[in-house]
Amino acid sequence: MNGTMDEASALQRNYKEVLDRIAAACRAADRPPGSVSLLAVSKTFGADRVAALAAAGQRSFGENYVQEAVAKITALRNERPDLRLEWHFIGPIQSNKTRLIAEHFDWVQSIDRERIAERLSEQRAADRPPLQVCVQVNVSGEASKSGCAPADVIALARRIVSLPRLVLRGVMAIPEPSEDVAIQRGQAARVRGVFDDLRAAGLAVDTISNGMSADIESAIAEGSTMVRVGTALFGRRARVDD
Ligand SMILES: *Cc1c(COP(=O)(O)O)cnc(C)c1O
Repeated sequence: MNGTMDEASALQRNYKEVLDRIAAACRAADRPPGSVSLLAVSKTFGADRVAALAAAGQRSFGENYVQEAVAKITALRNERPDLRLEWHFIGPIQSNKTRLIAEHFDWVQSIDRERIAERLSEQRAADRPPLQVCVQVNVSGEASKSGCAPADVIALARRIVSLPRLVLRGVMAIPEPSEDVAIQRGQAARVRGVFDDLRAAGLAVDTISNGMSADIESAIAEGSTMVRVGTALFGRRARVDD
């Protein structure tokens, strides 16, 4: 980002560009505008950046790190209750972090095993709406450690449906990054295939969370209903592990 450029206007310009990319990808795929929602991934960026994007009209934000997210969510709830933000947890989940996640988030997209689903359901407060959740599926095989194997998704999904404080919404995937559009499309098609399997098994799912800054178009071409975008909105992250 150009150091002299006003940060708020850069963010607004990026936001418009991302919304335009989503709209163009929907047109190219003959899908209705509005059939794909945008999750703004704000990990490593401060509450001020979230508030600035919310001022431009964005409501849903994704976070990967529990401690960082809880501080941000709490600050924004206290200082800007008017914003009514929706928070999605999209990072790896350790068992000892499920309580904080259940307390602070609206959605959890990265459930990859039953134990995590069970704890989240147990720990979700009775006076909050149920957690909206996705099963994270690994469509990249050995290349990726995170996510449930495609063959195990239906069993995990059925377990989630049996839990009182969770609502199963669909699947989430983080395919191995590739600049090759054919590879991007192939992986996105596998995510769609897992979603179709859930529907065929009689599960009422409506969400395919797939596509990030580099592969928004491929993901939408293959049926994604939610893209999770960080870099294209907020710029490059300072931390390299993200
Ligand atoms: C960081 C992250 C994103 C956003 O990636 P960008 O390439 O910055 O758009 C999306 N999903 C998950 C799970 C992430 O960890």
